[in-house]
Amino acid sequence: MRSPIYSEIDYQADGKQTGYLRLPHSVHRSAYGWIPIPIVQIKNGDGPTILLIAGNHGDEYEGQVAVARLAKDLQPEMLAGRVILLPMANFPAAKAGLRTSPIDDGNLNRSFPGDPAGTVTQIIAHYVESVLMKMADYAIDLHSGGSSLHYVPTVLYGDREDEQEMAEVLRLTRAFAAPYALHFRRSGDNVSTAAARRQGAIAVTVEMGGSGTVSPYALKITREGIERVMAEFGILKETKLGAPGETKVLRLTGGHNYLYARQDGLFEPAAEIGEEVSQGQTAGWIHQPEAPWEDATEVIFPITATILCKRIPGRVQPGDCLFQLGQDDND
Ligand SMILES: [Zn+2]
Repeated sequence: MRSPIYSEIDYQADGKQTGYLRLPHSVHRSAYGWIPIPIVQIKNGDGPTILLIAGNHGDEYEGQVAVARLAKDLQPEMLAGRVILLPMANFPAAKAGLRTSPIDDGNLNRSFPGDPAGTVTQIIAHYVESVLMKMADYAIDLHSGGSSLHYVPTVLYGDREDEQEMAEVLRLTRAFAAPYALHFRRSGDNVSTAAARRQGAIAVTVEMGGSGTVSPYALKITREGIERVMAEFGILKETKLGAPGETKVLRLTGGHNYLYARQDGLFEPAAEIGEEVSQGQTAGWIHQPEAPWEDATEVIFPITATILCKRIPGRVQPGDCLFQLGQDDND
């Protein structure tokens, strides 16, 4: 079945085009309406295609800002190939500033490969995978910690069975040159990097800042990383950026990489993102301000590792992630 989405962009045409992916959505206030998912294509002749996705989670803003800037800054003559920009991939979520869609509660990055006959979020996932990822040689899915987490700027990359593809994934990761990279063995099949893998695109996900806001530091790394990647693969003819800085490569080894709250309360962290912590070290305390005479519960780091992200809201309940930990990638 074909996607019900109609694209206002002619993907074969040279030049800069702006418009919408129209997702038919017949509702009370608009019987023949469509959801307007903004899209920009800048193309100059033959060459590789890069797809830049932001707003996959609607409350992650560094990527949305970086892609919105590129839509204005990039001109066809600067390129040899094609750049496709999707600044608000899950448009209903991005418009509302929410992680998931207010229409169907859909989490786009858990919805691949999607379904052309499914919910709004499933239709978007299906189009991104079967049309956009299919056209892409390279893709970057731009995330951050959103409203509930804050990340050190990190490129997430997964193993590929094909050696040539793996070499290209590493080349992309090195070119982006974030301060941290997180190497995982294999992602779930419902995320954007799995969509890329199925469609033969070389892709990474990046986690840039968060806290439901935009930090100049994370935004600078996002913008420079995208520019370096486009130059590395010859899509951008020229860059004035200097040599990238060092990347610390970490990995996930198992369940101990996520530290969770196990009770309700108010979390007091005892460590910061980017900090190297030791097994048994105090991670923080969960307080009961409603009963301040009760002892606070100490939370302990289960492994020696580097903190990649931390929880932002102070109130916690059982199951909330407090920290994500990455270990040295030695083997
Ligand atoms: Zn995200």
